[in-house]
Amino acid sequence: MTALGLVGMPLPALARTGVQRVRMSVDGDTTRLVFDMDGEAEYSMFHLQSPDRLVVDIENARAVEDLKISDNPRSAIKAVRHAARNGSDLRVVFDLRKPVEPRSFVLMPAQGSPHRLVLDLTSGDAPAAPRSAEDNGSRRGRSQENLRDVVVAIDPGHGGHDPGAIGPAGTREKDVVLQIAKRLAERVDNERGMKAVMTRTGDYFLPLRERIERARKADADIFVSIHADAIANRNVQGSSVYMLSERGASSEAARFLAQRENQADLSLGGVPINGKDDSLTNVLLDLAQSGSLEASNTLAERMISELHRVGKVRKPEVERANFAVLRAPDVPSILVEAAFISNPSEERKLRSTSFQESLADAMLTGLRSYFSTHARPGTLIADGQPDQHIIRPGETLSGIADRYSLSVADLRSANDVSDDRIFAGQVLRIPRDG
Ligand SMILES: [Zn+2]
Repeated sequence: MTALGLVGMPLPALARTGVQRVRMSVDGDTTRLVFDMDGEAEYSMFHLQSPDRLVVDIENARAVEDLKISDNPRSAIKAVRHAARNGSDLRVVFDLRKPVEPRSFVLMPAQGSPHRLVLDLTSGDAPAAPRSAEDNGSRRGRSQENLRDVVVAIDPGHGGHDPGAIGPAGTREKDVVLQIAKRLAERVDNERGMKAVMTRTGDYFLPLRERIERARKADADIFVSIHADAIANRNVQGSSVYMLSERGASSEAARFLAQRENQADLSLGGVPINGKDDSLTNVLLDLAQSGSLEASNTLAERMISELHRVGKVRKPEVERANFAVLRAPDVPSILVEAAFISNPSEERKLRSTSFQESLADAMLTGLRSYFSTHARPGTLIADGQPDQHIIRPGETLSGIADRYSLSVADLRSANDVSDDRIFAGQVLRIPRDG
């Protein structure tokens, strides 16, 4: 396993951060470790094998007292050791019972709690999530019973007393993005190995951080926020895809847009995004996401190339801006501006069923493309294509071929089917690569 990145802010050389204790809790297949610290610190983390160990190096830090954890056979941790390193750093080594997938983030002091470094260790041999039992119509066999669906959080922008942008004919952004989001969610739910979670399903206001919370609670693998753009110049049209950037916006327009979308919370009674709240507003937490920026970028790029097939794309490259709603730690997140609601022709399109469906199709294809290379281990998609598909009423050969990214010809020849006549309950063999 590779190093997991550096997090933190520079500290004066003199002050060594005291690590007061490490606390452990176990929730299902996740072991959470929390370091209580008397200040900020940079850290890095890496995995060693045979035997499995997780090493955490905290820079310019010392253990205030012996770091201990209670013995819990359900946890991923067997034992903990620590030692000074390089004269000024603290190295903490966790002996693992089994391989884990670590995630980490930093919390600033809040409600009587000190600075904290949080590690969530999820064991790879996680038991089946209940949702994987839902049958999508195809199953390879016993080995798939333990595999989960990837979870796509779909976030229709705005809602309730926040209408979003309003088109020249009075179309409200909050309404069309909800319709598009619902069409996408339906497609995602029909997709083998994928499951959709909507942050809002009706016309109500949701603060930005609540949207992120909902996605995190659902263990979302990715987060897709859907909006419609607006600008004073009514000639401007096309879709764009944005990802989070901590290093400033990629263009003045991106900066302006981020300001406007973030404004929803400030002006409409949500949680101020740059206020003094616990986790979502601090710089350390923002940096903790750098691991998912790469994935966000890939997701955004694949979305753009698909949207390109549906309509005009305003800019062929991924735009970067500091959107509050995209600050979900560890969850690759993008924001899709589907079209310009301020452009009369695109406003009309945004209301039309056919355009909404094309957008949803394009986004689904973008998701497929992303997950074909980025599905996490333990998911049905990562496990590869299934061997067979049981036909459900209403399905067509071309629809099924599409679903498994096959040509109809390949599907026919793998099944000795010479025409398009198929029947519900029929079992088709799905040819795999190679
Ligand atoms: Zn918006």
